[in-house]
Amino acid sequence: MALFGGKPGVKKGEMVYAWTTDSEIAKRAECGGAVTTLLKYALEQKMVDAVLAVKRGQDIYDAVPTLITDPKELTNTAGSLHCGTLLLSKILAKQLKGVKDRKIAMTVKGCDVMGILELAKRNSVNRDNLYLIGVNCGGTVSPIKAMKMIQEVYQVDPMKVTKEEIDKGQFIIEFEGGHKGISIDELEEKGFGRRTNCRRCEYKVPRQADLACGNWGVIGDKAGKATFVEVCSDKGADLLSRAVKAGALATEAANPKGIEMRQKVEGAMLKLGEKWRRKDFGALKGDLWGTIGRETARCIKCYSCIENCPVCFTSADYLKGKSFMVSPGEVPPNPMFHLRRFAHISDTCVNCGQCEELCPMDIPLALFSHAIRVEGDAIFEPKLGKSAYTN
Ligand code: FAD
Ligand code: SF4
Ligand code: SF4
Repeated sequence: MALFGGKPGVKKGEMVYAWTTDSEIAKRAECGGAVTTLLKYALEQKMVDAVLAVKRGQDIYDAVPTLITDPKELTNTAGSLHCGTLLLSKILAKQLKGVKDRKIAMTVKGCDVMGILELAKRNSVNRDNLYLIGVNCGGTVSPIKAMKMIQEVYQVDPMKVTKEEIDKGQFIIEFEGGHKGISIDELEEKGFGRRTNCRRCEYKVPRQADLACGNWGVIGDKAGKATFVEVCSDKGADLLSRAVKAGALATEAANPKGIEMRQKVEGAMLKLGEKWRRKDFGALKGDLWGTIGRETARCIKCYSCIENCPVCFTSADYLKGKSFMVSPGEVPPNPMFHLRRFAHISDTCVNCGQCEELCPMDIPLALFSHAIRVEGDAIFEPKLGKSAYTN
């Protein structure tokens, strides 16, 4: 750890345990409260004009993206919402006009980062105006499915659940009168657990953000009380160092055994992602296009998949009736409605799952886009991936 203005500062590539000195944040935070404290510090110091984070709405199933300009409000955003399946990248492009006129600090999962980078490539988001505080992500659970799972598998009224957490491979709920944990493997065998795109996700530690924060690898007396922070950019190093220097955060070097443990867990999660890819893509039995034809026959052409995809952007108007290949008012739409979108995002699908999550007809769109992406990678960039559905 280097010295920063007389106090310890961090550099890109370093890994530290960090914890907040703010007692209110400490009470509500998932681990050490480093994420909330960094966001708050950046806003207080006017390094940014606003913070984009996620807060709990009516209940644990209701994750609400929120734009904050008053640092005092940040405490309300502390804590992880695993039933929060939202994607923040498109908000930047749509509601925040590409963050071209202001600076924003925000919390990002792997898919949020990938969506932002794709939008930045299209000049739809200004990456330079962003502080990206990454959180490791093992996956999210769809809110409706989570309620069904809690009712049927946990045999608990989902409305009585006051807290959920994922710890040591278990999804744990707290409710009036007790708590119960069941392993995610067991839940997934029963058809519940994480969203299918999350199971196939192989981006667990968001190293393209400025900082990657998580709970994996925090051991010893700091277990559960500190956030593991990997410093991924000079910008991240500067923000963290300043917050430490100001006394907002305390840090110590990460325990080498903890670092090793974190690497092992990350490796195991990547293997699990690979296993799910084989299973899901294998289930297509080499008939991807036939399956697409059958499944999309129930499409009601609501445009939700297009509106919510972080990479399907510029063609939205084109697809909305201006295309020569899709007639306006035709339901179900001509297969070109889907094929054109799949082709258009085939090299950039980030497997965020928004298309599938928000499709009112439950069409497994993310599976199709992801299979096409991986198949394309296998053909054109063999180093990136294996054949998706032919292997
Ligand atoms: P806090 O100070 O409590 O801040 C948490 C931040 O997360 C807040 O800014 C909040 O707005 C934001 N947030 C909450 N829910 C969401 C959401 N659904 N989408 C986007 N942002 C959200 N760490 C691991 O090491 N392994 C994991 O497998 C893992 N899985 C995770 C899955 C999810 C869905 C999330 C949100 C986080 C996960 N984390 C994981 C990260 C971990 O839970 C903590 O967020 C991290 O350690 C930071 O802790 P903290 O106390 O500093 O965060
Ligand atoms: Fe997390 Fe990956 Fe799912 Fe995004 S796609 S919520 S990064 S597991
Ligand atoms: Fe069709 Fe589903 Fe897309 Fe709506 S979200 S246009 S129903 S595929």
